[in-house]
Amino acid sequence: MLTDNFNRVINYLRISITDRCNLRCRYCVNENLKFNPHEEILRYEEIIRFVRLCAELGFKKIRLTGGEPLVRKGISYLIGEISKIDGIDDIALTTNGVFLAEKIVELKKSGLKRVNISLDSLRRDRYEYITGVDAINDVFKGIERSIQEGLHPIKINTVIIKGFNDDEILDFASLARKWAIHIRFIEFMPFGDPELWGPSKIVSSREVEDIIRSVYELEPSINTHKGPAKMFRLKDGKGQIGFISPVSTHICSECNRIRLTSDGNIMPCLFSDIKYDVKRLIRADAGDDDVKSFIRNAVKEKPHRKYELGQIKKCQRSLRNIGG
Ligand code: SAM
Repeated sequence: MLTDNFNRVINYLRISITDRCNLRCRYCVNENLKFNPHEEILRYEEIIRFVRLCAELGFKKIRLTGGEPLVRKGISYLIGEISKIDGIDDIALTTNGVFLAEKIVELKKSGLKRVNISLDSLRRDRYEYITGVDAINDVFKGIERSIQEGLHPIKINTVIIKGFNDDEILDFASLARKWAIHIRFIEFMPFGDPELWGPSKIVSSREVEDIIRSVYELEPSINTHKGPAKMFRLKDGKGQIGFISPVSTHICSECNRIRLTSDGNIMPCLFSDIKYDVKRLIRADAGDDDVKSFIRNAVKEKPHRKYELGQIKKCQRSLRNIGG
C-alpha cells in the first residue's frame, strides 16, 4: 500500500493517453497550447510497464483519459493489456462520447468496466457552439449503446458554466429521473484565459443543488466508487445525481490519485504545476526498482491541499494537456 506524506492511501492512476482531441471546447482550448510531437507521447508499452510498476506499489484503479482517449488508435489493446496486470481491478474511461457507439463493443470485450461521458449541453446548437463540432447525436448514440452494453453505471459529467449552460441544470437532472444513469455536476475550474474563462463563470455545487431541490427531492446515496462526488438519489427516479466540487470545497483529504500526462510526467495534484518526468527515466532504460522509487517519491510530494482560488486563476493550463 502506498501512502503520501499525509497518510492518504494513493491507489488510483489517471492516465492521459493523448493530448489530441476531436473537439475544440472553448474553455479547454487555449491558443497558446501546442500538441506534443508524437515522439514525446508515451508509447503503449511504456504506459503498460508504468501501470505494472504502479500495481506492484498497490495501485488498483486506472482511468484512461485525454485529450480524447478514443482518438488514439489501439486503445482496446491497451485496455486489454492493463486488465491482465495483477492487482488492477478497475479500468474506466473518460470520453466525450463521440466515437463511443462504434467502439463500445470492442472496449468492453477488452476489459473496460465503466465509462464516464462528458456532456455540457443537451441542445444541439449549443453543443456545437461550445465544442466546435455538430456531434451531439453521436454522443447520444454513444450513451444509448453503453447502456445497452451494460456498462453500469453510465456517468454523465456536466461542467456548469455561468451564462452558458446554467439554464439546463433541471434538464440534466431530469435525465437521472428517466434513466438509471448518474448525472454529475462538476464545478468549472477557472484554468483558462482569465478574461473569458475566469472565476465569474463558476457556479458552485451549492447553487446547482438548490436549483435541483426546488423541483426534485434528493435523498443521500452512497458513492460506491469512493470518488469525490457527493451522490443523491432522485425520489421516484431511476438514476442518481452527483456534485463534484473541486473549487468550493476541499476534497483533498480524500484524494487517492495521481496523474500520468500523455508526455510522461507524473502530476501528483491537479491544482499544482509540479510534475515529475518519469519518461526520461523510462527511456534511459532505468530498472524497475528505480522507476518504482521515483513513483514513490512523486507520491510523497503530493501537496496537502489544493491551491486557493486566487492561485488557480494564475495557472494557465488546460485539462487537455494534464488529462481531465
Ligand atoms: N475528452 C475526454 C472527455 O471529454 O471527457 C477527456 C478529457 S476532458 C479534458 C475531461 C473533462 O474535463 C471533461 O468533462 C471536461 O468538461 C472537463 N473540463 C475541462 N476543462 C475544465 C474546467 N476548466 N473545469 C472543469 N472541468 C473541465
